Amino acid sequence: MSKIIGIDLGTTNSCAAIVENGTVKLIPYKGGEFIIPSIFAIDEKGNELIGHEAKRQWQLNPRNTVYAAKRLVGRSFTSDVVAAMQKTVAYEMKPGERNDVLLDIGHKHFRLAEISAKILNKIRVVAQDYLQEKVSRAVVTVPAYFTDRQRQAVKDAGKLVQLEVVRIINEPTAAALAYGIGKNLHETVVIYDLGGGTFDVSIIEIRDRVFEVKATGGDIFLGGLDFDQAMIDYVIREFQKKHDIDLSTDPVAMQRIKDLAERIKIDLSSREQAPFNVPFVTMTLQGQPLNIDFVFTRLMLEEMTTKLVDRSIEILNRVMKDADLDPARVDELLLVGGQTRMPVVQKRLTALFGKPPSKGVHPDEAVAIGAALYAHSLEDNSNLRLQLLDVIPMAIGLEKAGGSFHEVFPRNAAIPNAKAIEATTSYDGQTEVAMRIFQGDAPEVAQNELLGDFLFSGLRPGEAGKARIEITFDVNIEGILTMSARDPDTGKQMKTTVRVTQH
Ligand code: AMP
Repeated sequence: MSKIIGIDLGTTNSCAAIVENGTVKLIPYKGGEFIIPSIFAIDEKGNELIGHEAKRQWQLNPRNTVYAAKRLVGRSFTSDVVAAMQKTVAYEMKPGERNDVLLDIGHKHFRLAEISAKILNKIRVVAQDYLQEKVSRAVVTVPAYFTDRQRQAVKDAGKLVQLEVVRIINEPTAAALAYGIGKNLHETVVIYDLGGGTFDVSIIEIRDRVFEVKATGGDIFLGGLDFDQAMIDYVIREFQKKHDIDLSTDPVAMQRIKDLAERIKIDLSSREQAPFNVPFVTMTLQGQPLNIDFVFTRLMLEEMTTKLVDRSIEILNRVMKDADLDPARVDELLLVGGQTRMPVVQKRLTALFGKPPSKGVHPDEAVAIGAALYAHSLEDNSNLRLQLLDVIPMAIGLEKAGGSFHEVFPRNAAIPNAKAIEATTSYDGQTEVAMRIFQGDAPEVAQNELLGDFLFSGLRPGEAGKARIEITFDVNIEGILTMSARDPDTGKQMKTTVRVTQH
């Protein structure tokens, strides 16, 4: 059997690792870099570019360069998230047949699963070059706050390129593995993971080789990209005030501003101020070239992004409450994700917990390392034994009459988990029962995510209210739901059909 690699499939960057001869290593790319940008592009000649190659030509070809596609995975085209995203990216989105999102680039349409598949494949090729052997299996990490549908989409992406995703694990859980394995710890740790696109927080109890998630939460629309966007909005606004020109309609100018915004944001983590210069960004009606020429201070950046940091702390507080945990009882705070390098994030967390964050994990590498360690534990010849006890991030349940949501599993329910509910028929001779399953924490289904519209058939016809059906909800260790039904009197399985998976 080939080796199983660990993949951190990030919103902005991806990274892979493997255990070789008993030690875990990040898999290097050509130039020795460990990170592969999660970017896909088609150049003017129709060539497909992935990773660094795609990033390099991004400024000149923003219309046909896809980034942050992970934010769209498992979303309906008509969702607010997609509408909001369309405003900030230069590539075009179109509705697919099932109201899914199609990306329109290089005069072709791509499903999101195809984009994720291309990035996964690139990582696999890099790993194969490094290992000099075929790679066909991986453990892939996802944000803890991903729904069943989003997790399923990652598995499907793997299938498209014959990469078996043997297990999906949560990013903060992976980081905790990287931190805790082999240290014989007995600790409660908080993982605050603020990456390029998503924010996750998990509270994990480590008892040597047992990693038990107590509670989790997050926002898959809170990450470094939003910090960049706050700067971009400011630059556009100020430029408009000064020159009465709206740069937001110029994709090339926007791309240059975007690139620089991220670089200056990163600089401001180690400097108090930095110049923000984009020469010849546009021209006046008279043909006179105009430049962007500001000085950004760390304080300005902090003020512009306070709301984002506040949101993360609110979520953290809620998760602490869910776990019934007081900050004083937290043994370690682990910071994961590049955006946690921002000094004010560290300052606020230090104040909250009364001590500085742990230096025990590398914010960019911990997730891939944890995935690789877990992958190793799944290999036949491994003597690494681990027990992961995770939870679902949001409730799973069904739609009741009138559109209300009936929870079957509450948020933070331990997984794997199964629950059966019993239903009866509402009219004479009924042989089928339909059920819409949702995931989310809102009391109305309309605000939650539709996981599937199921039809159970094969009920024995009888009087209304007499025929019974037992429906089982089974959430596996990866947070993926399977539905089944049986006749409770005969024990016979009934046919289960998923009618739609998108709304
Ligand atoms: P990740 O998904 O963990 O790779 O996080 C990437 C995000 O972290 C991007 O939005 C980066 O701009 C951001 N980032 C990386 N380094 C720094 C830094 N030194 N200060 C602030 N943000 C950073």
